[in-house]
Amino acid sequence: MNPSSSILVVGGAGYIGSHTVRQLVSSGKQVIVLDNLVYGHREAIVDESVLFVEGDLGDRACLDQLFSEHDIGAVMHFAAYAYVGESVTDPAKYYQNNLAAPLVLLDAMRAHGCNIFIFSSTCATYGNPEYMPLDENHPQNPINPYGASKLMLERVLADYSHAYGLQYAALRYFNASGCSDDGKIGEDHNPETHLIPLVLEAAAGVRPHITIFGTDYETPDGTCIRDYIHVDDLARAHILAIDKLAEGTPSFQCNLGTGIGHSVQELIDVAKTVTGVDFPVQIGERREGDPPELVAAPAKAKELLGWEAEHKDLEAVISTAWAWVNGPRKGHY
Ligand code: UDP
Repeated sequence: MNPSSSILVVGGAGYIGSHTVRQLVSSGKQVIVLDNLVYGHREAIVDESVLFVEGDLGDRACLDQLFSEHDIGAVMHFAAYAYVGESVTDPAKYYQNNLAAPLVLLDAMRAHGCNIFIFSSTCATYGNPEYMPLDENHPQNPINPYGASKLMLERVLADYSHAYGLQYAALRYFNASGCSDDGKIGEDHNPETHLIPLVLEAAAGVRPHITIFGTDYETPDGTCIRDYIHVDDLARAHILAIDKLAEGTPSFQCNLGTGIGHSVQELIDVAKTVTGVDFPVQIGERREGDPPELVAAPAKAKELLGWEAEHKDLEAVISTAWAWVNGPRKGHY
């Protein structure tokens, strides 16, 4: 890849994509964002040097135009749908957007000789854990169409790498969390289903309470344990991955997590400390498909990329999200 080539960031107006775009720009990269704005926000692209194109990753004509008009050296793909519950009730939407559409993107890349691809995969590809922490060799048996669609694309990438020489990194995220340190961009999903933003909306009085989904799990306090990885740490791993692939490192898959687990109850307690608000907490039923514990074994990312989480303190992570909720945009674009 020519160092002056542009990076195409598909889904760059979304939560993780927009944080990565900012880091790409500050590392001196020329960035093109392609986003259909179904879930993304135009305002999340704050750097004026970024070329923003509204369009869909499954639109071959749009892709052909982009690849013809620009020297694109690599593609980062963040544009997946990620509501697990919806993937169960409407799997067609997930297989269409998370599998069929990226095939169009990969074909366009091949046709235009672009060979480096960074894929947002997920710990949901592992399914119900057989042991903990989860390393990359853990069996991949996803338990919902969202996880299955991500795993299928991982398989496609492995086959394309073998047959066509595609160089890819499949980065398996654990629970993306927090917001940019300067509070300029943040997490804004509609609908919002993630724990941290919901907890902080309860603290801000926007929601009447937070409901804990299950207190009868086999964990020390009975609530689910997750590995909350700061979005800027995730973003940094993407930059390192692209540099590695550009140096000729073979394709790889790796976990992106802190290696530290926090329970839902623990997170709520930390959020009460950060916000200084004793917001109401209700106990609810388990949410279908939630494994009791998901924590990353992060050693491979360290070995391959020299990457490890810098934001390891949950209080500090939640503070960045709280700054966004209290910032000028009040948590919404
Ligand atoms: N959770 C909860 N109440 C909520 C939302 C989430 O108790 O209103 C729990 C959920 O069951 C899981 C954890 O918080 O154990 C993280 O959920 P989230 O949806 O943020 O991420 P996921 O782990 O599903 O990717």
